Amino acid sequence: MRLPKFEYLEPKTLQEAVRALASDAKRSVLLAGGTDLLVNMKHRVIEPKQVINLKTIPKLAYVKNVKDELRIGALATLHDLSSSRVIQERFPILSHVATKVGAYALQAMGTLGGNLCQGNRCRFYNQSAFWRGAKPPCYKAGGKLCHVVRKPGECHSTYCGDMAPVLIALEAQVRVVGPNGERVLSLSKLYSRDGKRPLSLRKGEILKEVLIPPPSGKTLYLKWRRRESIEFPIVSLALHIEKDGTEKIGKARIIFSAVGSGPVETIGAEEMLESSSLDNRTIERVSNQAAKEISPMRTSIYSPSYKRRMAGILLRQALENFQIPNPK
Ligand SMILES: Cc1cc2nc3c(=O)[nH]c(=O)nc-3n(C[C@H](O)[C@H](O)[C@H](O)COP(=O)(O)OP(=O)(O)OC[C@H]3O[C@@H](n4cnc5c(N)ncnc54)[C@H](O)[C@@H]3O)c2cc1C
Ligand code: SF4
Repeated sequence: MRLPKFEYLEPKTLQEAVRALASDAKRSVLLAGGTDLLVNMKHRVIEPKQVINLKTIPKLAYVKNVKDELRIGALATLHDLSSSRVIQERFPILSHVATKVGAYALQAMGTLGGNLCQGNRCRFYNQSAFWRGAKPPCYKAGGKLCHVVRKPGECHSTYCGDMAPVLIALEAQVRVVGPNGERVLSLSKLYSRDGKRPLSLRKGEILKEVLIPPPSGKTLYLKWRRRESIEFPIVSLALHIEKDGTEKIGKARIIFSAVGSGPVETIGAEEMLESSSLDNRTIERVSNQAAKEISPMRTSIYSPSYKRRMAGILLRQALENFQIPNPK
């Protein structure tokens, strides 16, 4: 399958890339590892006028400790994350999740920035032009209807990334650079939850780095997918728990992927968990609550009820795992 024609830029600095992007933001795209973008371009899901390659900008692929904070450059690959000694020692969960993205070839090419900014997915949209030609174009493709839900103007295409849920559970922030300088926002706020335009980046903004505060508590990530070898999640879950000094839970974070237009945090289930002990009754109640809180749409071949059920099962498994005492 061939790529469509486009103008290709190789900026040497981030400022140059920002200027190029801001000059024609609607018809430009950023290229990092290309594992998401180039597939979409080959399928004519997007046909940009201008492709701006971030990989020609030096010093954007790093992993470093700055005081207590861990900073990861947007161009660090997922393989960099899984093989970095600093990450393995301080945030082993991040190394683990990086090995769960697609398959090794994608981890070697794919970057953290590209993973966080990857396009939302829908079974009516992520298809070849030939396949899509059988139906009228949907809102996300510039048309006047949605093939999934009948809510005027709304698109519920689904965010299916693996890294975002666990980084949100770790309370990561992102630094973005744009025409008006830099700003730092919580990773959770990077997602607009609007399927048509899933990121809250402003015109000309580029994700520069991810900032992670010192580790506390314990974090788990469970991914349910069709094939272990290479596949997006059907549902996945990041669970983070901090004890309050007794047997009770002080702080809990429960974040799902592949069930909404961005990573989905189930606040009600978190509140139910906080100040509780991890007994069987709590685990049952919290898992049911989380399954109720998410609203998956029919954007993949898996039904919303199946995703809901699997979300509850994943959370129950994760909570039961927390009961296992660490070996001494
Ligand atoms: C078969 C297959 C299986 C996959 N499985 C998974 C999976 O299991 N889990 C998963 O999470 N992903 C999966 N992916 C998607 C993709 O491979 C990964 O998300 C990868 O990490 C994307 O990174 P990249 O550098 O290749 O991004 P690119 O393709 O280069 O970019 C992706 C998007 O992010 C934007 N972007 C890139 N960098 C920046 C930046 N610094 N600032 C702002 N915007 C930016 C680009 O413009 C583009 O829109 C899969 C892809 C394929 C083809
Ligand atoms: S949810 Fe609807 S509008 Fe969005 S991509 Fe799918 S079919 Fe298109």
